[in-house]
Amino acid sequence: TTFEDFKLNKQLLNAIADAGYEKPTPIQEQAIPLIMAGHDILGIAQTGTGKTAAFLLPLLMKVKYAQGEHPRALILAPTRELVMQIEENITLLAKYTDIRHTAIYGGLGPKTQIETLNKGVDILVATPKRLMELYFKGELILKDLKTLILDEADKMMDMGFMPQIRHLLEVIPRKRQNLLFSATMPDKVVELSEEYLEFPTRVEV
Ligand code: AMP
Repeated sequence: TTFEDFKLNKQLLNAIADAGYEKPTPIQEQAIPLIMAGHDILGIAQTGTGKTAAFLLPLLMKVKYAQGEHPRALILAPTRELVMQIEENITLLAKYTDIRHTAIYGGLGPKTQIETLNKGVDILVATPKRLMELYFKGELILKDLKTLILDEADKMMDMGFMPQIRHLLEVIPRKRQNLLFSATMPDKVVELSEEYLEFPTRVEV
């Protein structure tokens, strides 16, 4: 399999070439066609497998270009470090598109983050707690969400983010694509996926 086989657009293929990715990793090979076909995914993959690009490339195909004011995709991750890493991956892969993306996390004041949100964002990467704080403040409109990605779901649960995630799932549009990635599949993660994912396809590497 090559990246060309996935029918990615030219902007993405050029960014992949610049990044030096020669061929898809196993998780990319399995997950990219399924995600592009619109399926919900339950992905069991560790860091280092290329899982970030596995969900970002189909997402960047779907979001395609800057549009509207409110985020159309939300990626949740447990820590500020992981949020920043995902954001860097988006910067790398979206460099030939006009897609607007930003990262929000705790540890510093929300003012700059709110200003960025107000300029319009297509893809938002966030830690659960800061995300919900901004939501409850009325700074974040989630009505246009079409894709929800939960990265390192097991870790988010271990860190006690389940209440924020459940709350989020109750307030976002029902009709959406869900991608859940986790290094392990404890009962809590399986339950969450059974409750909120729609006929998910399991992908494991
Ligand atoms: P991840 O598992 O998403 O944290 O990715 C691990 C590392 O692999 C990151 O540094 C990526 O930039 C890199 N990577 C992702 N996909 C590929 C690929 N197809 N070929 C080579 N490196 C890749």
